[in-house]
Amino acid sequence: MKTLVTGAAGFIGAHTTLRLLREGHEVIGLDNFNDYYDPQLKEARVRWVQEAAGDFPLYRIDVEDHDELERLFAKHRPDAVIHLAAQAGVRYSLDNPRAYLDSNLAGFLNLLEACRRHPVQHLIFASSSSVYGANHCTPYSERHNTDHPLSLYAASKKANEAMAHSYSHLFGIPATGLRFFTVYGPWGRPDMSPMLFASAISHGQPLKLFNHGEHQRDFTYIDDIVESLVRLLPQPPSANQYWNHGDPDPSTSAAPWRLYNIGGNRPVHLRVYVDTLARLLGLQAQLQLLPLQPGDVINTCADASALEEAIGFTPQTSLDEGLAHFVAWFRSYYLRPLNIPVVNEQACSLEPKG
Ligand code: NAD
Repeated sequence: MKTLVTGAAGFIGAHTTLRLLREGHEVIGLDNFNDYYDPQLKEARVRWVQEAAGDFPLYRIDVEDHDELERLFAKHRPDAVIHLAAQAGVRYSLDNPRAYLDSNLAGFLNLLEACRRHPVQHLIFASSSSVYGANHCTPYSERHNTDHPLSLYAASKKANEAMAHSYSHLFGIPATGLRFFTVYGPWGRPDMSPMLFASAISHGQPLKLFNHGEHQRDFTYIDDIVESLVRLLPQPPSANQYWNHGDPDPSTSAAPWRLYNIGGNRPVHLRVYVDTLARLLGLQAQLQLLPLQPGDVINTCADASALEEAIGFTPQTSLDEGLAHFVAWFRSYYLRPLNIPVVNEQACSLEPKG
């Protein structure tokens, strides 16, 4: 399949691109390399992909640029789109709301319009576990209420689901929305807890634990996300398949459309997570316990049975194994170039996985 991956220089995008290239797909990448976090990390991810799987066309395009997107679609006519480009981050959305409207709403509309004008066999787009918001009824099932998002980021992802549904209904675009649950692994995002925590622990700095460390998160290892994506890609939804586990619900949609949670159904207490990370780094963590932050969801846990039913796969990497891969990468990418002594090297001898 000729697949357009948007956000190809991002964390999930780079891993997805690499896997697709290795499996012989033709991939076209798109990313605006914005400075939400260090663009050099994005450039390095692209080099990693190119060294491992060869060159691929990668366009420095902003999805907010309707004309550029149109030219890209007209030139390459992708069979499928994996849309991962977005303004991510919950806390950043408190002070930078406009970025979410621009990238996640206007940009997403441009993408839907491009898929309408140049029909694709399958549009897969990133949503988020944050859509469950104030709903504390875990494990979250796709049927659960998502009426009360707690941040503009979450609201933009919920809006994406509604927008994709309407385009799927009106124009027959086969669309799959994926609610990712806290993804981690090598080449991860510097604004997310694995990198923030590993960095603080390595530099002997106190580690900020909001909600006094009482959060629980359903951490999902990157390879499990990518495995799900590649299995879903050749399986676009057909009309009238809205809930493809159990009976179709006649009160819902007949559009070629579906939504899946992707998470492990194994929530981990944040303190356990920090202990595991510190053990793998061979260091002690100093904790700074802070109150709950506005916008934060307290517990996340995925019911991923619908995904399993559809593709015969459910995330399975244990936290120990996944964090060991992350720590191995973190050491080689961050600690060695900074000349920070690597303690307890034996604790983590695994090579980063592609
Ligand atoms: P990321 O920030 O590493 O990747 C996103 C990429 O998109 C970046 O490289 C960025 O430069 C690019 N981008 C942003 N705005 C753009 C625009 N307007 N035009 C073109 N490119 C743009 O984030 P990620 O962790 O890889 O997340 C990928 C997707 O998954 C996002 O939609 C995110 O909201 C969603 N998601 C991620 C997680 C997670 O735990 N990582 C959880 C839930 C949802």
